[in-house]
Amino acid sequence: MIKSFKFCPNCGHSISEFNFRRMACPNCDLVYYQNVAAAVAVILRKDDKLLFTVRNKEPQKGKLDLAGGFTDPDESAERTCQREIEEELGITIPIENFTYFLSKPNNYEYKGIPYKTCDLAFIADFPDEEIVLEKEEIAAVKWIALKDIKLEEIGFDSLRSVVDNYLKLNLK
Ligand SMILES: [Zn+2]
Repeated sequence: MIKSFKFCPNCGHSISEFNFRRMACPNCDLVYYQNVAAAVAVILRKDDKLLFTVRNKEPQKGKLDLAGGFTDPDESAERTCQREIEEELGITIPIENFTYFLSKPNNYEYKGIPYKTCDLAFIADFPDEEIVLEKEEIAAVKWIALKDIKLEEIGFDSLRSVVDNYLKLNLK
């Protein structure tokens, strides 16, 4: 149930229920779908290390995160990976260098409104370029060796699971 939506945006009648899929007005014909949002997360690797960002804003401020974000309208997931890394880290990675890994469902609450996302994880090799941080969203970056990664320091359940899967395949 999404609590912030109390009235039909078409006729103003009270809405008794708005679950994560569908709001149907009991008074007029309005039916509105809140679909699952696509988002990407990129495992950036170099040697035996992965690059984590430290979140500088809620939700999960101060926790480890992977570079990534929500897919824009009319955008491919690979382009989302490329764009988010350009925005967050100031680095350009060729679009064909993002390899799909797996996906995980996630909950993302922003300003009191819960969103359901499907986080698409990709893997890319980190190029030898200098990082220029987007400081509003990211406090810092950390390179962490696979054997030293502590899953509990990762903010989102979905990304913790993505990294856990990656470690199971790659940590020998
Ligand atoms: Zn209505």
